[in-house]
Amino acid sequence: MSGNTVRTEAIRAINNYKFETTIDFKNSSSIDMFGDNVFSISVMKKRLPKDIFKKVSQTMEEGSRLDASVADVIASAMKDWALDNGATHYAHVFFPLTGLTAEKHDSFLMPDLAGNAIAEFSGSTLIQGEPDASSFPNGGLRETFEARGYTAWDVTSPAYIMENPNGATLCIPTAFVSWTGEALDKKTPILRSMQALNTQAQRILRLFGDDAGKMVNSTCGAEQEYFLIDRNFVSSRPDLLAAGRTLFGAPSPKGQEFDDHYFGAIPDRVLAYMCEVERELCKLGIPVKTRHNEVAPSQFEVAPVFETANLATDHQQLVMVTLRKIAKKYGMTCLLHEKPFAGINGSGKHVNYSFGNATQGNLLDPGETPHENAQFLVFTAAIIRAVHKYAKLLRAVVATAGNDHRLGANEAPPAIISIFLGDQLTDVFAQIKNGGATSSKGGGTLNIGVDCLPSLPKDAGDRNRTSPFAFTGNRFEFRAVGSAQSVSGPLVAMNTIFAESIDFIATELERLTGGDGAKLNDAVQTVIKDIMETHGDVIFNGDGYTDAWQEEAAKRGLPNMKTTPDALPCLVDEDIVDIFSKYNVLSKKELESRTEIYLEQYNLKLAVESKISVKMADTQIYPAAVAHQTMLADNCLKLRELGLPCDDESLSRITLLSAELRAASANLKALMAHEAGDTLAEAKHCCEKIIPAMAELRSIADAIEEMVADEFWPLPTYQEMLFMK
Ligand code: ADP
Ligand code: MG
Repeated sequence: MSGNTVRTEAIRAINNYKFETTIDFKNSSSIDMFGDNVFSISVMKKRLPKDIFKKVSQTMEEGSRLDASVADVIASAMKDWALDNGATHYAHVFFPLTGLTAEKHDSFLMPDLAGNAIAEFSGSTLIQGEPDASSFPNGGLRETFEARGYTAWDVTSPAYIMENPNGATLCIPTAFVSWTGEALDKKTPILRSMQALNTQAQRILRLFGDDAGKMVNSTCGAEQEYFLIDRNFVSSRPDLLAAGRTLFGAPSPKGQEFDDHYFGAIPDRVLAYMCEVERELCKLGIPVKTRHNEVAPSQFEVAPVFETANLATDHQQLVMVTLRKIAKKYGMTCLLHEKPFAGINGSGKHVNYSFGNATQGNLLDPGETPHENAQFLVFTAAIIRAVHKYAKLLRAVVATAGNDHRLGANEAPPAIISIFLGDQLTDVFAQIKNGGATSSKGGGTLNIGVDCLPSLPKDAGDRNRTSPFAFTGNRFEFRAVGSAQSVSGPLVAMNTIFAESIDFIATELERLTGGDGAKLNDAVQTVIKDIMETHGDVIFNGDGYTDAWQEEAAKRGLPNMKTTPDALPCLVDEDIVDIFSKYNVLSKKELESRTEIYLEQYNLKLAVESKISVKMADTQIYPAAVAHQTMLADNCLKLRELGLPCDDESLSRITLLSAELRAASANLKALMAHEAGDTLAEAKHCCEKIIPAMAELRSIADAIEEMVADEFWPLPTYQEMLFMK
């Protein structure tokens, strides 16, 4: 390739790139650093008076309210610890509905009356902050004159120190609410939904004889997929830079067809990057467990060990922030978008989910004995019922502009929400449905048809990558979540619908076993049988990528909402509003505001993408086409003068494509000028008109790329971006 475009510069820079690493890993192992930057239980134990420590740890365990009288003592200890670790500022960190992480930094320094400055941090500043809420989306929740919002310390998520080469900041994870107490963030509903789940799960535990009341917490382990692309390429591609995905690009001659990337050897620069990411995460007390190449070229995955849902959500945000931040240091950009490159796999975030408590551990572990199996089957039946009953909600919480490219594109689960149980569990539930009592052993033993079964294996062994919601041995894996999403939405939805289902089952069991009623085992048999009859259709162990499943699912009446504008409005359906209010997770107003904000986000994303599409087509691709056309035309002129035949076909083709490109760009511009009445109408317009128009423009541009002389082509190609490391 000749010429001196930004693209050639980028390639030159990559070939000359040398990364420097400053880490002395032999003398400072990241394992030894685990939690070094966290104001953890053990730090608190060392630094707090005994009685105060007892109060905080109790609060952390139970998620109860923190006694204001102890806040000052904690704040002071926290400040001293932070100062000892080089911090000069503190920040209330919160998670607005944009899905990003927000923080406002304040210095510890306060001038005193004598003209000196002292470091100060009171209990009230620890517990509560007051950022201006007006710069964050609120979906109509906040009157414009009341801009205040509150951040309130979430005691269950420890404070930590964020390091920067030139300073450090004490970060305090907080919930963000409006002046009137409405949630403006992703954390508040997580905390509320965890409480709801706990309350209902306790009832089942009591029925099975566990009345210790140990808090049942949901757990989450999120596998994060991402792409790493050299920064030089990204900066010469306006689409990657501003939209996080390529809006143009002909397929690379080599794609992922060789299956040579998945689990392959990790390139040096990438591995060095991963090591540093893990080191940073380790210091923050985030236990990274797995790392590997993913299916697509230049795609990777990182998975921390699971934690309670709330902590995992905060940590997941930190994982995304850290992945992005460290990539820069290694001359790369970390793309978290769900579909950065057409034609090769996109990225998801598998949300592994379970719940458990201190006495019994994981409640979705089938266990070794029939009794545990029965309790396990009750919880699993609750999940089956909930996923069937509220499939549309699970679809709605993964509805984003980016994720629409993945769901149903034969690389990620379809937009149909079903459950994969694996052969063995499916068989157990089928037996119960068919009157499992036939295998009763009678005489005081369990009468639910499961006691005669072998105890269920911890790992069912079989795997199904095509299911959006799969049982994987001792947890469920929600696989439809997008890679750039906060895990909060999916976790809130799961906690809430499972709480409702567990509530339903507990009520049924209490009713059936009350007074001189049935034995628990018979009641369990009855309830599960009913659930299987009503909700069993949600179980599907086959290949979710096939057309046959689309047809079959339609016959079963399972919803199949293919796009975000289809799915998001479900958030305010009456039954959804009902359960969210019933369990005090989100009020109708809060749900309405969220729907509005998410639709707005969708529209904003598409507004940016369409603007970039037009700009790139007009100012980069069209000029390249014209340059090529001119070259061919000049050539034809010369050849004709010499009486030689010329390549009229190519000349006509590039002329036609250039004209088509102009027309498609004009068409897209015209569609962008359209004013829809409201956010939903606008989203539909984007989905039905803008997206197809962008696709049309792209297909012409990609055809141009295939024929334009290399020296005229301004954009890094798929092959260069995906294979140059
Ligand atoms: P996979 O084989 O699905 O790629 P990984 O090992 O990459 O599995 O990731 C599995 C994730 O599931 C990890 O984050 C792990 O900590 C998490 N996980 C394991 N047990 C539970 C559980 N009980 N609750 C929630 N997450 C869990
Ligand atoms: Mg994995």
